[in-house]
Amino acid sequence: MADQIPLGRPSTGDEEIDAVRAVLESGWLAGQGPATRAFESAFAHEVGAAYAHAVTNCTAGLHLALLSKGVGPGDEVIVADYSYPATAHAVQFCGATPRFADVNPDTGLIDTGAAAALVGERTVGLIAVDGFGQPADYDELNTLSRAKALFLVEDAACSAGASYKGKPTGDPTLADVAAFSLHGRKGITSGEGGVVTTSDGEVSSFVGSRLCFGVESALDRAESDALPVPVFADLGWNYKLSDIASALAHVQLRRLHELVERRSHVAAKYDELLGGSDLFELPVALPDRVHPWQSYVLKMAPGVDRGRVAMSLRAEGIGCNIGTFACHVQPVYATSDVCPASADLFARHLAIPMHAELTESDVERVAEAVHRTAQLDLVTRRT
Ligand SMILES: *Cc1c(COP(=O)(O)O)cnc(C)c1O
Repeated sequence: MADQIPLGRPSTGDEEIDAVRAVLESGWLAGQGPATRAFESAFAHEVGAAYAHAVTNCTAGLHLALLSKGVGPGDEVIVADYSYPATAHAVQFCGATPRFADVNPDTGLIDTGAAAALVGERTVGLIAVDGFGQPADYDELNTLSRAKALFLVEDAACSAGASYKGKPTGDPTLADVAAFSLHGRKGITSGEGGVVTTSDGEVSSFVGSRLCFGVESALDRAESDALPVPVFADLGWNYKLSDIASALAHVQLRRLHELVERRSHVAAKYDELLGGSDLFELPVALPDRVHPWQSYVLKMAPGVDRGRVAMSLRAEGIGCNIGTFACHVQPVYATSDVCPASADLFARHLAIPMHAELTESDVERVAEAVHRTAQLDLVTRRT
């Protein structure tokens, strides 16, 4: 059988191994040590934010971002419906109610008009999602959030290395706070991990202490010239990223643009080889933003059985999956919101292999198999 082509694959090598080895040899393996501090400052610099805080994962980062804005029971937060359910989970963690805004059928990005229609007495904020890494429509979203006095959080889980009209995701002009993921399926990774960025000093000090039980960091205490005795005045969480993971993530951050460039090359090749079919549509990359291609997702035509195409591709060793989730239909949220465009993408999207390790011949093999299996599926069902 031919080699497997996985859907996603992290790109790590000797540099990452050396960085992890150095942390192991240093003796500071827990979080908030020198490796985490160095990673945070490099990340803040990369995205043009004043502050960055490394956390256990993006979901924890979203949770802290919402808490920093005072979100609690009785509040409603509008979220992009077409997303990994982490976005709405974070709202529920705060005891608040997520309201699901439909998305643009072409891009899968939150539809600002749909979000505006959900604003009511209890609405306190908005979480936009950078879909498969592509930044949301931040000009329109900022106009809405300013007009309605809402906070705006960027779910930048997939969008490290992306930009909107020249501004990197995480830039303070796009949103008040952003949360990035370093999960193994994202564009840069430490296995599990996340980063919160902001330029708001109050948000930053809230996040910085609440990710560590509500007290100042161990390194700040270690650097004090008196014996510091922390006081536990506020309830905080333990959302610290270990120094082992930070060191790994720091190497990945240095390689960020190299990895985005390699994936962009794959996307361009797919566009060339897969364009012009009646059986599926290509992903829409908007001209005023840089798409980092965390995933490459086809929209199958209504006549094509996505499940059968997917199983045929997998049988040939080609990884594939659904795109992401329509959240409003997930029972955990028990919502009456409706989002037909999101539901349609949830039913028709098919993600095909996308990562920086794909070779030219892998891409050709995937494209040929996608054309053939989609065509075959149509033919079998016609007869
Ligand atoms: C992956 C993902 C998350 C969750 O990230 P974790 O780091 O695993 O918590 C949140 N939102 C979106 C849009 C994602 O794709």
